[in-house]
Amino acid sequence: MPAATFRFYEELNEFLPLERRKVDFRCGFKGRESVKDMIEALGVPHTEVDLILVNGVSVDFGYILQDGDRISVYPVFESLDIQDVTHLREVPLRETRFIADVNIGDIVTYMRALGLDVYCDLALSHREIIRISREEKRTILTQSRKLLKHRDVIRGIFIRPGTTVEQIRGIIDFLSLRGVIAPFSRCLECNSPLARVTKESIYGRIPPKARALYDDYSYCNGCDRIYWQGTHFARIKKVVDEILA
Ligand SMILES: [Zn+2]
Repeated sequence: MPAATFRFYEELNEFLPLERRKVDFRCGFKGRESVKDMIEALGVPHTEVDLILVNGVSVDFGYILQDGDRISVYPVFESLDIQDVTHLREVPLRETRFIADVNIGDIVTYMRALGLDVYCDLALSHREIIRISREEKRTILTQSRKLLKHRDVIRGIFIRPGTTVEQIRGIIDFLSLRGVIAPFSRCLECNSPLARVTKESIYGRIPPKARALYDDYSYCNGCDRIYWQGTHFARIKKVVDEILA
């Protein structure tokens, strides 16, 4: 019977029986078996997995196992030394969501402008940020080392000093997020996804000047805002283009 050697990293081990935690183990398989099916058969939900290496090369869930493969399975970037291989992947295996600390407001706005899901509530304590991060699998964005050192924090990124453009570029490159970026698909104010709407359906709410100039409108169901490509948009688009340049 063909077999592959598996190794699971960090918190993914919690899904495995004790004897398979943090060690290499061999597993036989029959016929065509995808790495995703095999990982789930071993007890690890695929939604927990962020990176799979087969013989050192990043693959997606559809990869078909071959006899003798060595499979390494990682949750969200727990280890810095996998940073280089994550760049092999164009689109991360699962949606990356964030929760931002209070002190980096510009980052929140511009990451939302890129379509990234960034939760931010100025009233949250560190304890609450950690709880939401764990429950919703949100990566904490902060400039507080104290927060990231807390033993309950599973995923977090320390925002280094720099311009907003440099900081956001650092985050999206570190997590290989360029493939999931969808500019102007999310509300800058409340983080809800935006829906395209026709001009007619919101006609009465658009200032006459904008009506004459713009045809594309988006609506936020979360906070009832309407977006169009006005001057505010142009200013944000300039920064977005700079980040993606
Ligand atoms: Zn909104």
